[in-house]
Amino acid sequence: MIEQLYKSSIIYNMSTHEYKGGCHCQDVRFTINLENPIESSDMTACNCSMCEKLAYIHLIIAKDQFQLTSDWNNLSKYQFNKKIAQHYFCKHCGVKSFYQPRSHPDCWSVNVRCLDDYSTFDLKFDTFDGKNWEQNIEKIR
Ligand SMILES: [Zn+2]
Repeated sequence: MIEQLYKSSIIYNMSTHEYKGGCHCQDVRFTINLENPIESSDMTACNCSMCEKLAYIHLIIAKDQFQLTSDWNNLSKYQFNKKIAQHYFCKHCGVKSFYQPRSHPDCWSVNVRCLDDYSTFDLKFDTFDGKNWEQNIEKIR
């Protein structure tokens, strides 16, 4: 059984691309595993009332692709309007490095700008008109 788990974790690591990231003060840290390199993953800049102020770039991933490696207690949660999205931010430095989006309640959205080595990536991202959320959301689901 242990040997089986060991083998499957090796296969898992070989078939994924691992990135680390977090907030500014490092109290919030996470590791993500992507099927494709970050440069060929889908990501979106949104212009809604929240994302526009933060210059947030979304990378939406399944919850099992995300591992928080710091203490959950370092995070605080902010909600507004329909209170479906759960906006987490670092209690110490205030940076929102990931959250649970309203559009994909079973996923995490990671802020690509909060990945380590962000400036070294050659990224292209789509835009999402979050000011008109209801009219546009089906395009990205
Ligand atoms: Zn912080």
